[in-house]
Amino acid sequence: MQALTNRAQAVNRAPMTFWERIYLVNIFKGMLITFSHIFKKKPTIQYPEQKRPFSPVFRGLHVLNRDEQGRERCTACGLCAVACPAEAITMEAAERLPGEENLYREEKYAARYEINMLRCIFCGLCEEACPKDAIYLSETFAPANFNRSTFIYSKKDLLIPNPVTEPEAYAKAKGLN
Ligand code: SF4
Ligand code: SF4
Repeated sequence: MQALTNRAQAVNRAPMTFWERIYLVNIFKGMLITFSHIFKKKPTIQYPEQKRPFSPVFRGLHVLNRDEQGRERCTACGLCAVACPAEAITMEAAERLPGEENLYREEKYAARYEINMLRCIFCGLCEEACPKDAIYLSETFAPANFNRSTFIYSKKDLLIPNPVTEPEAYAKAKGLN
């Protein structure tokens, strides 16, 4: 039959020699390659006990920031949502009521703030667009999950712990200890 390409190779059907039949030489060759790697530096690490350091330019999961008095910095101006090329951010603004000055830094705040992590490309433009230092990308990443709805991060998931009422959790979130 005519070959479709000129890459056809003739198969060597010569009977195997004694050494080829007992396979010992090839087994030792394979073992030698394996043993030659034992004393080399291991490229793998024991994750999650060991973690690789992040690159200085790594951009991870978003955090909604508070000021030093524990008040939410976000004023729901919407600039982050406008800057987001993936349209991953949605929010609803609300007016601060009298007596809520200890909760919200500005007269307007985000009553609802959501980021769709399945859309987010972690470009960091929301952080750059924010005039209130209210959002930043941390050095953690969104954990894997089986359910798409778990990747819609709400304000509850994004807000950093209060530095006044939860100083330890705040320091941990900031990577200070
Ligand atoms: S990191 Fe980029 S894609 Fe993700 S929410 Fe911010 S602006 Fe949008
Ligand atoms: S995070 Fe910043 S840019 Fe986004 S709505 Fe809040 S204050 Fe505005």
